[in-house]
Amino acid sequence: MSQAPVLQAPFAGLKESATLKINQLAKQLRAEGKEVCHLGFGESPFPVPEPLVQALRDAAHEKTYLPGLGLPELRASVARFFTEVFGYAAHPHQVVVGPGSKELIFNLLYLFEGPLLIPSPSWVSYGPQAHLLNKPSHLVATQREQGYRLQADALDATCRELGPGQKLLILNNPSNPTGSVHTAAELEALATVCRQHQVLVIADEIYALVDYSREGFTGLARFYPEGTIVTSGLSKAFSAGGWRLGVALLPEALEGVLPAWNALISETFSCVSSPIQYAAVPAFEANEAIRSYVSQCTRIHQAACQHLHQRFLEIGLNAPEPEGGFYLFPDFQPFSDSLARRGITTSAELCQALLEQEQVALLPGEAFFFPAEGLAVRAAAVDYSGAEMLQQTAPFSFSQMDQAVERIARFLSA
Ligand code: PMP
Repeated sequence: MSQAPVLQAPFAGLKESATLKINQLAKQLRAEGKEVCHLGFGESPFPVPEPLVQALRDAAHEKTYLPGLGLPELRASVARFFTEVFGYAAHPHQVVVGPGSKELIFNLLYLFEGPLLIPSPSWVSYGPQAHLLNKPSHLVATQREQGYRLQADALDATCRELGPGQKLLILNNPSNPTGSVHTAAELEALATVCRQHQVLVIADEIYALVDYSREGFTGLARFYPEGTIVTSGLSKAFSAGGWRLGVALLPEALEGVLPAWNALISETFSCVSSPIQYAAVPAFEANEAIRSYVSQCTRIHQAACQHLHQRFLEIGLNAPEPEGGFYLFPDFQPFSDSLARRGITTSAELCQALLEQEQVALLPGEAFFFPAEGLAVRAAAVDYSGAEMLQQTAPFSFSQMDQAVERIARFLSA
């Protein structure tokens, strides 16, 4: 072909995700022999629980295509898990299995009509997914003073502006990037607004087991069962992101969408890899060894996040206290004047300067749909060896993260 190929409209101008880009740059700097403190990439540092690894070995011979919506045994164990652990009304036929919850969220945005409401800040991929599907999206602001948790009045105001008709809301709880966990009272108030304004919610609860909030995790489906689709998977609490297994729980009221979803799956990815589906079954069973391993990993995530939080406060950053997941969302606003004198006025400029000058990798708040001039960054508190940490007892030491904070402090005093 002599001419440059022409891409379909939504792909023009679509960039590689900020997360992957920083990761590549950090890898490149490491390959050049530079010692990079990596607070950028949010992958669990722990090994996959041994019983799951064994289950995958045992299933290596499984070779046939499975039903598109998932292995019946897995759908049954996921339904029991959602019922027992989170108190949702879940039956096996309401469960859909996909190659990661990211793909399932994309499917849901494809399947359901209506604009997407995205709390600001939110995980990086929601906006680009809506863009790829030509779906209008609208940001709903949250406040640092409220831990960046979505409040009912803000959602109500946005819904009123949009007027009647079905809308979709994506609610990530616990949150990447902020580490916040919504309280039951907040969820109850959100449920009322969703009911009033015909809002279907995709409740992205991929971090639900990595919860260390005071109140304990509650899901929106407890208060708004008829309109909440829950997504989860193996990537975070079970440390198996590369296995690419996600699950979705549809409410009974939305079961009618299953034939369309089944058709979409059958014309696209067909089914998730069969050995992976068989191996995932024990993750969702009441397996004592796996549950206690996940709790131990969560205690270490908590220690790492709380440690980093304290250190950020000590060097003068604003940072709400994390309550779940692996992340923090501090901002450099107290230093905005001195940074502006150095030509740094956006979170992307800040991250680039920190990586180039101090080899500290962080992600810019603007990639999370947060105003660039807010000078916020997402820090992932996973720069340690999970296997080594599992051999230790509290208090844990996080020397690489300490070093990152010292470098940030040096950058600020330069
Ligand atoms: N949602 C959030 C908030 C995430 O952080 C991630 C992983 N980074 C995902 C969804 C996607 O997870 P997966 O596709 O691996 O299930």
